[in-house]
Amino acid sequence: MKINQSCIFCKIISRDAKAEILYEDDLVVAFLDIAPINRGHVLVIPKDHYNSSSALPEEIAGRLLYIGGRFGTACKRALDADGFNLHLADGLSAGQIVPHVHLHVIPRFASDGFHWNWRKLEIDSGEYNEIAVQIKSKLKVNNNK
Ligand code: 5GP
Ligand code: ZN
Repeated sequence: MKINQSCIFCKIISRDAKAEILYEDDLVVAFLDIAPINRGHVLVIPKDHYNSSSALPEEIAGRLLYIGGRFGTACKRALDADGFNLHLADGLSAGQIVPHVHLHVIPRFASDGFHWNWRKLEIDSGEYNEIAVQIKSKLKVNNNK
């Protein structure tokens, strides 16, 4: 197993740090976030330590998303949530504080008053095309690089 001795989430997996663990299988662990956005905010993490979601083997990435969805449904049933957000911050600039991949499952309530502040840029069609070409030229699938 890939472990980082100084990682708080690795310590939660090994039970060297406390957490309210809700689920565990061969690939992932899920537990309650210590500072929840809403009640029932869950983190799903791979058991192996990876800094970035882009390094995850396909099987682990798939399990992470699958279990995230199962928890979203569980929160709707258990807490009467109206919906849920799945959120993953990758890199400091994206808001990743803990450098062990984690998928946030955030139960949402119609009246919870929480708003994601996504901005909307206006981009002209020429630049759109250029961006698409640039990204497609660097896309690599199946080698996790
Ligand atoms: P990030 O900003 O990296 O996407 O989110 C990290 C999340 O981990 C935060 O929501 C934070 O509250 C949670 N977190 C950080 N340390 C701990 C901890 O020791 N225990 C638990 N249960 N959650 C933690
Ligand atoms: Zn770790």
